[in-house]
Amino acid sequence: MADPRGFLKVRERELPPNRPVEVRLRDWKDVHAHLVSGQPFLKEQAGRCMDCGIPFCHNGCPLGNLIPEWNDLVWRGQWADAIDRLHATNNFPEFTGRICPAPCESSCVLGINQPPVTIKNVEVSIIDEAFARGLVTPQVPQRLTGHTVAVVGSGPAGLAAAQQLTRAGHTVAVYERDDEIGGLLRYGVPDFKLEKLHIDRRLEQMRAEGTRFRAGVEVGRDVTWAQLQARYDAIVVATGATVPREPSVTGLELAGVHPAMEYLHQANAVVAGKDVPGQITAEGKHVIIIGGGDTGSDCLGTALRQGAASVTTLAIGKRPPEERPASQPWPTDPVVFEVSSSHEEGGERTYLASTVGFVGGEGDDAGRVRRLRVATTEYLPDGRRVPAPGTERDIPADLVLVAMGFTGPETGQLAGQLGVGLTDRGLVARDDDFATDVPGVFVAGDAGRGQSLVVWAIAEGRAAAAAVDAFLSGSSELPVPVTAS
Ligand code: FAD
Repeated sequence: MADPRGFLKVRERELPPNRPVEVRLRDWKDVHAHLVSGQPFLKEQAGRCMDCGIPFCHNGCPLGNLIPEWNDLVWRGQWADAIDRLHATNNFPEFTGRICPAPCESSCVLGINQPPVTIKNVEVSIIDEAFARGLVTPQVPQRLTGHTVAVVGSGPAGLAAAQQLTRAGHTVAVYERDDEIGGLLRYGVPDFKLEKLHIDRRLEQMRAEGTRFRAGVEVGRDVTWAQLQARYDAIVVATGATVPREPSVTGLELAGVHPAMEYLHQANAVVAGKDVPGQITAEGKHVIIIGGGDTGSDCLGTALRQGAASVTTLAIGKRPPEERPASQPWPTDPVVFEVSSSHEEGGERTYLASTVGFVGGEGDDAGRVRRLRVATTEYLPDGRRVPAPGTERDIPADLVLVAMGFTGPETGQLAGQLGVGLTDRGLVARDDDFATDVPGVFVAGDAGRGQSLVVWAIAEGRAAAAAVDAFLSGSSELPVPVTAS
């Protein structure tokens, strides 16, 4: 193990500082200063790991990351072995090390009476160091099986499945309807959380290993699902959960009211140097964001960088921190906005605010949103949330971004052309092995799980790859970190 007395000698967590707010608001670069080889404290932080007999962090991580092992290797400065152990369970630590809410840290036993080990920072340091030292090289399969697989969707689930299946010797093509590969990592998550160079250099490795990419092809429209089924021996559906949840209120049709992903997609494209005619921008506007999760906070950071006049985030069902019962896990739940870097940067937050409707202007301005009518959220004894009578008020709004999450995947063509079953929640139905009820068709990530996290998408992609490999080859040696249920 690392330093056996490390946690007694170093009791505090130490992390690289975030870049100052006034500096980072002027650009789109990562808010965190991830320092490669420049963290004098990294060794002693890794040395705080207690190497527990039962490492709960393994279970806390859906990928089963071998955390005490690589903490020890970082403490010893053995970078090649550290990246080897990290890659053994995680195809893309450069993504999780940056944007995972780190359930592993919530499971760290040291957290019982000290701040937990800085696992996420150790993880990102290993992969950054590995790229810098040229330790991330293509793992080309030694033989090809002759089997072909189509992976539809190029988010973290599809990419993880594709990389595992390519390395197992299958010939894999990834289909993506966007003009570039990466799913929500490319066009959802802004650069200030994940700069796109991290996706691009991983794709370079995947191309060198033999994975083929077909961007700009929408399956179901440009090529039918049935054609794909005829052309390939197996299909992995990794199309994400892209249907936005909308409030059932009046005025949704007004100009200036947009789903968050429409706004973020355009903003990310512009940051990538693309031309987006008629871009929705927050510049000079009073912006309201409905929803206080990851998507809402990404809208906030984006609107602040675009120069919004004001930004207010409404959290519908969340109580202010001081009013929450001690037993309520939130706000320590890491995916909510208290811990988002965007909320250090500005904007107002209004808790327990229910949207009653969007109100247009007058005369020529009637078709454009100008105000948002809100009321205080009241909890009924049965747990339902309703607008409290007599609490309605209007707040100015020129741009409203609806960031209330996603109801599930787009399934019309998939179900119509292939006949896959759906769950009561409208997700693609699957058994424990990620198989849909159409032989040879598997599903991984948000399309089958519902909106979730990058770490779950990678874990599901890896496990689905093992199921596909077994379907094609009769058995598989690929790892299965999670089951679908
Ligand atoms: P996706 O990443 O959604 O990828 C699916 C891909 O399939 C898309 O590129 C889509 O264009 C493509 N596609 C769909 N249909 C077709 C078709 N018919 N033909 C071809 N291609 C198709 N999680 C975290 O852990 N940390 C975060 O900080 C975080 N921030 C987030 C911020 C935002 C704004 C959003 C929306 C989500 C965030 N998440 C975060 C959640 C995370 O991004 C998702 O859980 C994850 O990306 C799901 O991966 P996936 O591969 O299943 O799907």
